Amino acid sequence: MQKLTDLHGGSVEAESKPGIGSRFTVNIPWRRDLVAQQEAIEMGSPLPVVEAKAISQSAQRGRILLAEDNMANVLTIGEYLESHGFDVVTATDGLQAIERTEATEPELILMDIQMPALDGLEAIRRLRKDPRSASTPIIALTTLAMPGDRERCLEAGADEYLSKPVSLKILVETIHQLLGAKK
Ligand code: MN
Repeated sequence: MQKLTDLHGGSVEAESKPGIGSRFTVNIPWRRDLVAQQEAIEMGSPLPVVEAKAISQSAQRGRILLAEDNMANVLTIGEYLESHGFDVVTATDGLQAIERTEATEPELILMDIQMPALDGLEAIRRLRKDPRSASTPIIALTTLAMPGDRERCLEAGADEYLSKPVSLKILVETIHQLLGAKK
């Protein structure tokens, strides 16, 4: 059996049996963390231990709260940011976004605008009223690029606005710009 380990501690195992074929086992720990977080959110359980552990480790590039109700986007954006050295905390509605901002004090927030319970615009307004998150950089994400969206997001208190499907490269560049500008 061949085992390859990547930088994140993940691994790929390849097992070949003559006449049967090959079997590949892929372990991606950081993606499991995201899925575990998501499951806890959906079941209303307390955050899993893996997240607490991730938070206690010093983040190389900072912690990002990803507030997004679409699981495919959570995984795509979340794993991309993790691969760029960020700690990612997730929330699937506006109320969770506020709770988790208070609990984990992220360096930056990505806020989907269309979310259940409390939409992203209202979540941003509430975060701006709280001194602890009044100056945290926020990037608003919206699915439908409607005229006036940008203005609405900036007026609510977002620093930047990107429409989905978002270019991951542009997203990371925008994050670096905002984090760099803050320092
Ligand atoms: Mn949404």
